[in-house]
Amino acid sequence: MVNNPPSTSALQALFGGTFDPIHYGHLRPVEALAAEVGLDRVTLLPNHVPPHRRQPEANPQQRLKMVELAITGNPLFTVDDRELHRTTPSYTIETLEAVREERDMMPPLAFIIGQDSLLTLHKWHRWQSLLDLCHLLILARPGYHDRLDTPELQQWLERHRVTDAMLLSQQPHGYIYLADTPELEISATEIRQRRHQGLNCDDLLPRSVQCYIELQGLYR
Ligand code: ATP
Repeated sequence: MVNNPPSTSALQALFGGTFDPIHYGHLRPVEALAAEVGLDRVTLLPNHVPPHRRQPEANPQQRLKMVELAITGNPLFTVDDRELHRTTPSYTIETLEAVREERDMMPPLAFIIGQDSLLTLHKWHRWQSLLDLCHLLILARPGYHDRLDTPELQQWLERHRVTDAMLLSQQPHGYIYLADTPELEISATEIRQRRHQGLNCDDLLPRSVQCYIELQGLYR
């Protein structure tokens, strides 16, 4: 009897963020993650930020443009601006449902978040249903190791965590994978603050995005 190997299909991922602005702390760890787990394609999803939350300094069109500039010429990335067209909050679960509905099949799909976002995941709308639709891939982020102290979240993580990246493309959803990605001490907050202070941001984000920020007079 021949045992067929488990079927595998290309793993794709979504990566949501405010991207105010997009920076190397987003791009480099995701590129490393793609190599680590065999990601074919990563779709960046700039968020609609509801009026009751702290508003981004750049408007939605500017945030989208910065994402487009940052990924130009990089075949790993694409951008999906659907959340920017919404007038209601961008609930990740609803975006995932919409993405799943658009596809006939149920290919392996992942959602990427940084380690800081993992710490507050239990506050997300219908967070426990996320794994019914996708895998969660967690990027390492300096300062956020071993800080998970919510028992409910800890137990959930232990139940669904896998350490073998191969499993991610063998199942359409349901796993959590903590990636061993490079830790870059970069945040959009720091970039905005440096700009406010007139400091140089050269190693923090792509040149094309810096030029756009300059031209638009952002973060002054
Ligand atoms: P801000 O400083 O304005 O809060 P940010 O730099 O954290 O912004 P976001 O657009 O809010 O960027 O982040 C989008 C996603 O990217 C989140 O899941 C976040 O955890 C992750 N992320 C952001 N910066 C890093 C980084 N340096 N390393 C790993 N993950 C990151």
